[in-house]
Amino acid sequence: MTVHFPFQNSYSALPDSFFARVAPTPVAAPRLIKLNRPLAVQLGLDPDMLETPEGAEILAGKTVPAGADPIAMAYAGHQFGQFVPQLGDGRAILLGEVIDTEGVRRDIQLKGSGPTPFSRRGDGRAALGPVLREYIVSEAMFALGIPTTRSLAAVVTGEHVIRETALPGAVLTRVAASHIRVGTFQFFAVRRDTDAIRRLADHVIARHYPDLLHAERPYHALLASVVARQAELVARWLLVGFIHGVMNTDNSSISGETIDYGPCAFMDAYNPAQVFSSIDEMGRYAYANQPRIGLWNLTRLAECLLPLFSDDQEKAVAEAQDILGAFSETFSDAYQAGLRKKIGLFTERDGDDALIQDLLDAMARNQADFTLTFRKLGDAAGDPAADDARAQFMDPAAFDEWAKRWHERTALEPQTATERQAAMNAVNPMFIPRNHRVEAVIQAAVNDDNYAPFEELVKVLAKPYQDQPDYAAYADPPLPDQRVLQTFCGT
Ligand code: AMP
Ligand code: MG
Repeated sequence: MTVHFPFQNSYSALPDSFFARVAPTPVAAPRLIKLNRPLAVQLGLDPDMLETPEGAEILAGKTVPAGADPIAMAYAGHQFGQFVPQLGDGRAILLGEVIDTEGVRRDIQLKGSGPTPFSRRGDGRAALGPVLREYIVSEAMFALGIPTTRSLAAVVTGEHVIRETALPGAVLTRVAASHIRVGTFQFFAVRRDTDAIRRLADHVIARHYPDLLHAERPYHALLASVVARQAELVARWLLVGFIHGVMNTDNSSISGETIDYGPCAFMDAYNPAQVFSSIDEMGRYAYANQPRIGLWNLTRLAECLLPLFSDDQEKAVAEAQDILGAFSETFSDAYQAGLRKKIGLFTERDGDDALIQDLLDAMARNQADFTLTFRKLGDAAGDPAADDARAQFMDPAAFDEWAKRWHERTALEPQTATERQAAMNAVNPMFIPRNHRVEAVIQAAVNDDNYAPFEELVKVLAKPYQDQPDYAAYADPPLPDQRVLQTFCGT
């Protein structure tokens, strides 16, 4: 028996300018530390086989499985607003694509599998900490119901990577609807290769937006669809307190998945200006700035598509602006609808937006924990004497004042308190990957080769909307001395 991957590769059939053919670099002593068995099954892979030594060698890039066509994808990108005409997969290699059990084509990519022609000064490797971080947070996002790349496996390589110090090396197997980014279009736009842009757009439509195949103006419709998916995605991030941290155009997925978990973080206390990333000195990617940046990135995409819109540049620009104009409304609709659900409203009335904004303002002034305030508000819906939400506020009176208005508003709806609480618990998670937990898990793995805390955290985060009383401590915000103030890319 050998490990079988039912590859059906399409990206590597595109023109040579789209990628570089390159095999992973073998590593010394691969050891599987985590296999996502349910995901393996969903991909049509045999989890038992992946857990054999041969499976670990494949997941570490030591052996290339039959049918793989390993490539590093070419892309460009704006990094913190600065355009870089060539980035590309510098430490990632796409093994190939499989069609999963739901009929969806998925990329299987190794991240940290050695240098490629796009590595520039990098070593093509990943350290264990960032690999575990991506595993934990991407799978938590999936469990929260937010579009995201997934993590199939993590292996340690038996080699060290040199960062500030020598760290254990690791490889993450990332699964994505595709790894095509805004930056992929930019790669060809800056080279004025309109044929390649058209090829890429056609590939994207067939793969991610097949409904548009017969649209009257498919490329316009493509931009509109990406705008809608990104607007909804960013709204979903805000509704769970997620800060991506590096919303560069090369980290902005055309399929509308969250991609590239670097210095990302969930905030504890609500603060719209929150930044965790050590390299985001200007707060460009602060929590509340994410919608604005989402639109900025999509505007870069629109620029790439202009030659496909019309030969008349002015006309093309006007059409693109018109399409981009929908972003704000799509975002606001998704965000406001999500917030209404978070406070347990079943209907929409005048004054709701103000009611919600007043809660958010009071939370910010009172350093209320974002996740627990909403989760515990569900208890208060069922029992006005439940005071865990109130306890999140430095000045609980600020909550009382607001709660009075909230109870008056919910009383206008026929639902019972139990119905309201159930609906709220289905959208307000109890468990998020809190930074201090993620850090503690990484320390145990890196310093003590102890993966038990990692396993437990992953298990709890797989059911974020369930109470899980045995694991109640995972819902707690950090104590003052546990607070993580900065996160790092670790590249
Ligand atoms: P990221 O910050 O992960 O979005 O990566 C930005 C660019 O840097 C991409 O082109 C990556 O492939 C490249 N890169 C990041 N880390 C490394 C590394 N260790 N070796 C080579 N390239 C890297
Ligand atoms: Mg990236």
